[in-house]
Amino acid sequence: MARAHVAFGGNVGEVEANLRRALEAVVRLPKTRIVRVSSLYRTAPVGVVDQAPFVNGALAADTEIEPEALLAGLLAIERSLGRTRERRWGPRTVDLDILLWEQRVVRTPDLEVPHPRLQERAFVLVPLAEIAAEVRHPLLHRTVGALLEALGPVSGVDRLGRPAWLDALEENPC
Ligand code: AMP
Repeated sequence: MARAHVAFGGNVGEVEANLRRALEAVVRLPKTRIVRVSSLYRTAPVGVVDQAPFVNGALAADTEIEPEALLAGLLAIERSLGRTRERRWGPRTVDLDILLWEQRVVRTPDLEVPHPRLQERAFVLVPLAEIAAEVRHPLLHRTVGALLEALGPVSGVDRLGRPAWLDALEENPC
């Protein structure tokens, strides 16, 4: 059993409803359960800035499947929700990224864990720090909370709240 941390976000259509469908699908992945979910945050787009704001969050899952299998499951969920990929960093229905996998380092053509840009992105670190501030980055040797602090003052990441459906996704860890 391993504890994985996953970022989620989207900015197309009924964003909260799409995220809810995505996370309910994560719950149905084999041998995987969500143990914590952050609040939802409204975040300003990074990279391609002429697009709608995103809603982002992070979750912790306990899983017995391998990172590549979880990635395949997450990509299938993205596809099932009609994600379009015309533009890198452009609009998307739902984006699911593996951030951390305990202290494991994975570097393959299809998967990099820890996520290579996690330490640069307030829209990832703010929700992640809400649920995993003490978790250590295995390459940077700093906690998520320290990485967030190192970013300096954060702008463009506003807590939206915590809808009740998020609580319903969480199961207590063993
Ligand atoms: P993007 O559209 O920017 O979210 O990139 C998605 C692609 O990034 C996927 O097809 C994965 O093969 C690749 N990828 C590499 N590392 C990761 C990761 N840690 N989590 C999710 N996708 C990843």
